[in-house]
Amino acid sequence: MARDPRYDILFEPIKIGPVTAKNRFYQVPHCNGMGHPNPRAVAGMRGMKAEGGWAVICTEECEIHPTSDISPYKEARLWDDHDIPALAMMCEAVHEHGALAGCELTHHGPSCANHYSREMPIGPSHQPINGYDPMQARAMDREDIRNYRRWHREAAVRAERAGFDVIYVYAGHDIAMPMHFLQRRRNNRTDEYGGSLQNRVRLFRELIEETKDAVGHRCAVVVRYATDELIGPEGLTLEESQDIVGMLAELPDLWDVNVSSWYNDSTTSRFKPEGNQEPFIAFVKKMTSKPVVGVGRFTSPDTMVSQIRRGVLDMIGAARPSIADPFLPKKIEEGRPDDIRECIGCNICVSGDFTMSHFRCTQNPTMGEEWRKGWHPEIVPARKSEDEVLVVGAGPAGLECARTLGQRGYRVHLAEASDELGGRVAREAKLPSLSEWGRVRDYRTYQLGKLANVEIYRGSRLDPAHILEMGASRVVLATGAEWRRDGVGRMHGFAVPGFQGINVFTPDDIMAGKAVQGPVIVYDDDHYYMGGVIAEKLRRQGHDVAIVTPADLVSSWTQKTLESTHIQRRLLELGIELLVKQDVVAFKGDHVDLACVFTGRVTQRACASLVTVTARLPNDALHQKLMANPGALLEAGIKSVTVIGDALAPGTIAAAVYQGHRFGRELDEPAMGEVAFKREIPNLAV
Ligand code: ADP
Ligand code: SF4
Repeated sequence: MARDPRYDILFEPIKIGPVTAKNRFYQVPHCNGMGHPNPRAVAGMRGMKAEGGWAVICTEECEIHPTSDISPYKEARLWDDHDIPALAMMCEAVHEHGALAGCELTHHGPSCANHYSREMPIGPSHQPINGYDPMQARAMDREDIRNYRRWHREAAVRAERAGFDVIYVYAGHDIAMPMHFLQRRRNNRTDEYGGSLQNRVRLFRELIEETKDAVGHRCAVVVRYATDELIGPEGLTLEESQDIVGMLAELPDLWDVNVSSWYNDSTTSRFKPEGNQEPFIAFVKKMTSKPVVGVGRFTSPDTMVSQIRRGVLDMIGAARPSIADPFLPKKIEEGRPDDIRECIGCNICVSGDFTMSHFRCTQNPTMGEEWRKGWHPEIVPARKSEDEVLVVGAGPAGLECARTLGQRGYRVHLAEASDELGGRVAREAKLPSLSEWGRVRDYRTYQLGKLANVEIYRGSRLDPAHILEMGASRVVLATGAEWRRDGVGRMHGFAVPGFQGINVFTPDDIMAGKAVQGPVIVYDDDHYYMGGVIAEKLRRQGHDVAIVTPADLVSSWTQKTLESTHIQRRLLELGIELLVKQDVVAFKGDHVDLACVFTGRVTQRACASLVTVTARLPNDALHQKLMANPGALLEAGIKSVTVIGDALAPGTIAAAVYQGHRFGRELDEPAMGEVAFKREIPNLAV
């Protein structure tokens, strides 16, 4: 298909200092939970994006020296020459497809504790390091600053030797040394590096100049800069940033601009829409002739074009949209933007960094699996048999399974009990601010619609007799899960007294629109988003709501998706009471008994209804019934019955999509063994 001429502008080459990007698609630096211990996985992932048409592909933060050791987080590293080959692998993979490779040189200053290197942390002034590690950074003296500048310069040379085309001086977020020198609250120096803005900018300026001097003949020297910390006068403000950008305007070869800190930058769709950073970054282009790149979870080519035509950005920066769809540029280029697998803004990818494990994506089950499983996001192996497959249940697992099998050429029957496809995402997308989650269903429904070999049966609740009659030789059960009603979860192994009463509801009840009497207690022993979202929904309906959780924070796990701060703030602003470190030990019809998780001291709290958000149970009755009669399966010619997704073990939407994809991709393929992926075993040579 021909490209829509409206989008031609996105494919214009952009000159960045001495190098030229082939188009305007720019994958900004992003972490991935793989980092320096997994160079092949990183190269596979970055190379895939280059294949998908991104013109610039950057690393994650790349530590320049052992005094910048952000372990246990796994980022890139260029401490000395030993680190060059690993990053050279990434550069080769990126260059293979005509893209430029960018390296985000980083010194974390007082933002890292140096757990691995055991060097004393350093910073502009004496200060505790980020987080609650009982460590402090020491104030750098002039010699330390000279050393730091030398380390940066040497790292830039190493990056150039590794093959990078674009070298960063990183002052984005609240985790980079040049930013820390800019921040008044962190920089109390009285020498030429502290005090006036001129002085606080000095180090940033020197680093840009010295990096240009070291590698600027061949590499573009660019900056990443956060224009507003969004914490008021204690932080770096937009006003001050205008002066800073004015002072350095023409110095770097490109401005990559965003907001700080990370939770304001990579905000989930629950809290910020596409393009939300525009008010904070639009001024930059007016102050410089150099190209400007910015992010905003851009997935719509029309929005991208608008950003360029309105003079906000020159290049479309993306981390998450490039994770959800590494082939986003290619799809626009080939005139098929409807095929874009749009990021849903859930930040499951970000959780890979916080769990220090290969990152994953709700929308793109192949992300992080490019090298270790050889998975390509767009290409699947052709079918290896004539088997027909019946997939029961069209939630995320069933939809992805049917889509993948269909793409491989299998004949597929997808049966869904309700009239609507999507399972849990169809339900959850109707909860407050979660509408973008519907993209999990929409992408798959659209793709399935193009596959003549997949038949979809809506409003078809199958029982074992139906399945035996259908004549498919493979059966996949993706029948999902239901929230428990009995309070069993992490705190309770047995049913909680009173939880069987009529005024006890589950999230499924609330999503089904059951009427609730207030005041309401939401008991959250699940700790992801559901408890908070249900509380929000009920509060917006006008009920008095309190949320009780045994954890320190409401929706505690969302610290790993950068949502926790936004969630506590929103719930409090809505007037929802947050009762943390409390357990619900009984429901007595008109009140709950709450126990302090430390002392066990019981207090009472009046309420008319209780919503219990603790755990889910798989819908496995169909499976049990089918397996109870192996003779009937044999007679019906059914070779296998496989349970996937929440029906196997309830988890994240990402886990369900992954399992659906895995079954679809691996059917009839040779098994990889007990360890179903390649590993990067440490090299024992010293
Ligand atoms: P997952 O996250 O694993 O995909 P979901 O709960 O989102 O699970 O989706 C499960 C889907 O399966 C739901 O849409 C549900 O209506 C459907 N389903 C459950 N039992 C049956 C059945 N017996 N026949 C057809 N569809 C079913
Ligand atoms: Fe987007 Fe979620 Fe995928 Fe991250 S995990 S890229 S936020 S869909």
